[in-house]
Amino acid sequence: MQAEQIAKQLGNAKKANGQWVASCPVPGHGKGNGDKNPSLSIDINEQGVPLFHCHGGCSQEDVFQTIRELHLLRTHGTARPTRQHQTDTAQRL
Ligand SMILES: [Zn+2]
Repeated sequence: MQAEQIAKQLGNAKKANGQWVASCPVPGHGKGNGDKNPSLSIDINEQGVPLFHCHGGCSQEDVFQTIRELHLLRTHGTARPTRQHQTDTAQRL
C-alpha cells in the first residue's frame, strides 16, 4: 500500500515536501462543506501502516473510519492505533 495510491483514490492528490496530500474524505470536514483544498497528509510508517493527518482538524480515527468505509484500504489487518482505556481494575477495599 502506498501513500500515492491512497491519495489518488481520495482525489486532489499532490505531493508536497515529499509527502502526499489529498482531499479529506470525512463527511464532517469543513463543517460539512467538504475539503476543497487538499488538507489530508498521508504518510506510511516503517511498518507500512498508513497514517493520516487532517489539517482541517478531523481526528485520525475519523479519517481511518471513513477511508475504511470507502474501502480504500485493501490491506487486511491494518494496524489501528490502539487506544488504551485506562479502566482501573476493581479495587478491593
Ligand atoms: Zn478533514
